[in-house]
Amino acid sequence: MKVSIIGAGNVGATAAMKIASEGFVKELVLLDVKEGVAEGKAMDIMQSLMMDDSETIVTGTTGDYSKTANSDVIVITSGVPRKPGMTREELVGVNSKVMTVVLDGATKYSPDAIFVVVSNPMDTMTQMVVNYLGTENANRVLGMGGALDSARFKYNIFMKVREKVGYLKPHNIQDCWVIGGHGDTTMIPLANKVIVLGKPLSDYLTKEEIDEVVDATMKGGATLTKMLGTSAWEAPAQGICEVVKSIAWDECNTIPSSVYHPSVGLCIGDLVAVGSTGWDWEYDGCDESKSYMKEYASKCAESVEAIRKVNAAL
Ligand code: NAD
Repeated sequence: MKVSIIGAGNVGATAAMKIASEGFVKELVLLDVKEGVAEGKAMDIMQSLMMDDSETIVTGTTGDYSKTANSDVIVITSGVPRKPGMTREELVGVNSKVMTVVLDGATKYSPDAIFVVVSNPMDTMTQMVVNYLGTENANRVLGMGGALDSARFKYNIFMKVREKVGYLKPHNIQDCWVIGGHGDTTMIPLANKVIVLGKPLSDYLTKEEIDEVVDATMKGGATLTKMLGTSAWEAPAQGICEVVKSIAWDECNTIPSSVYHPSVGLCIGDLVAVGSTGWDWEYDGCDESKSYMKEYASKCAESVEAIRKVNAAL
């Protein structure tokens, strides 16, 4: 399998390192516009792999899309991240211009690839790819954001419940999902679905504590941006790695992802099965009408409208 990551910055290069060190990809190409950066990151990763026993070959290129030819998966992390005090949505102007250039280059050499969109505002950037490829190809376009937001939700639950019960492992927390938009106000953590050690979350936390956990999750990205001076990269890169792995091994894992919903005509986060052909609805009969977006329709309506407003800037 060949994977190309566009943008060799914090998120792109860290994702490359995580994917390459797991060794499930044969060929990995990093592409950036900054002269020599992708080549340098690729060389650094390759030198790290010498101590890792991975057989992945990582190469870098400054803007030469022919090097990404015949990629099975294209991961898009190019553009700018937010700074403290900014929302993801404020990046739409600059990042949509970058996305236009990237799509021309990437689709020229890998027209049939699965596209994993990471650049923010992620739901709108994912929509750009769907608009470019046509809705008939929507099942091979997914935005990575729900995987990260769900991990942040799980982290917040983990820390609070562990404090109470004195022990806990991450895998003791199940069905911990965030759907909706990948934005501070548009994401929807599904607290009522979460299972901890076989019991509902409400068996461990009070309503006030659950509200705190939900609030911390929604502000999770902004909190880290304030601390780091730029947006975080370790957990986002792990989210990319999980998505690419589920595609590479056709695991069909349930991963909340931003996908095109015909019923609302835009991309928004929902639970989907991610496999070798892209994504499909995670429900019996693969039917959009049974999607979580429908189950949480009233909550999702506000997020849909917020995303629609950002999409209007394209
Ligand atoms: P970064 O600044 O470290 O890296 C971005 C890279 O993109 C830079 O190296 C830059 O040179 C490159 N770039 C710019 N224009 C390009 C072009 N036309 N072609 C190729 N490369 C180009 O930023 P980062 O922290 O890695 O974040 C990257 C993006 O991912 C941001 O938009 C950020 O908001 C987003 N992000 C999304 C999530 C998520 O969960 N979806 C999480 C974290 C960050």
